[in-house]
Amino acid sequence: MKIIFIAGYGHVGSTILEYYLNKHKEIFALGESKHLKYSQNMICSCKKRLSFCNFWKKILKKKFYILEGFVDHKISRIKYCIRLVLINFEKKKINPYKRLDFYLRRRKINFLIDNSKDPLALIDCIKKNKNNNVKVIFLKREILKVIKSYKNKKRQIKKLDQKNPLVTFCEYFINNALTKIILKIYNISYIEIENYDLRKKPNKTINRIFNFLNIHHKSFNLKKKIKNKYHSLEGNVLRFKLKN
Ligand SMILES: [Zn+2]
Repeated sequence: MKIIFIAGYGHVGSTILEYYLNKHKEIFALGESKHLKYSQNMICSCKKRLSFCNFWKKILKKKFYILEGFVDHKISRIKYCIRLVLINFEKKKINPYKRLDFYLRRRKINFLIDNSKDPLALIDCIKKNKNNNVKVIFLKREILKVIKSYKNKKRQIKKLDQKNPLVTFCEYFINNALTKIILKIYNISYIEIENYDLRKKPNKTINRIFNFLNIHHKSFNLKKKIKNKYHSLEGNVLRFKLKN
């Protein structure tokens, strides 16, 4: 199983990106792996609770605790950094990617998308998979658009996470600098994608990504509807519609 890790900051368009890529029959979008920790209350992108979702209910039946250890934004980063060191001593635990691989192979899926974005989650992903099995899509967006997205009025009404513009600004650059360093240290192959291109030229951009991933895409159609295959751990029920 090859892992496609989407790296970058929040609100850069990773949900629409994984939604597009998931339309390819060989690709399964897992969403943000860290959400598995909160599985009890999670709603899958198929709009069912995880315990009722046809995909996740089978996985949750197994010993779920093995999936802990992904980045959790609510606990301190320091705690997580300590865990990163300890990971080397935790090899007895079953690798979550391997567990998913077991279910996905039967469905003839060869690529798993982890949409965690976080640099620490990226290290975790690299450590749990062989280097040459991880490929990264580094998604970027104009910083002012990211700030605006976090201050969106609809988000305020729905009481979704709000961020101070200055915090967003600083975090965006630190996050992306860390991601760059990690990609260099572990020598991971990656492609940089601009949110603007994804929105304005989705077909061209997705084809560029398929070429980078070396995935056959001649009969691929972005407008194609997918049935029973989208089980992403996005957290929110998806609200976007595919245009053009
Ligand atoms: Zn589902």
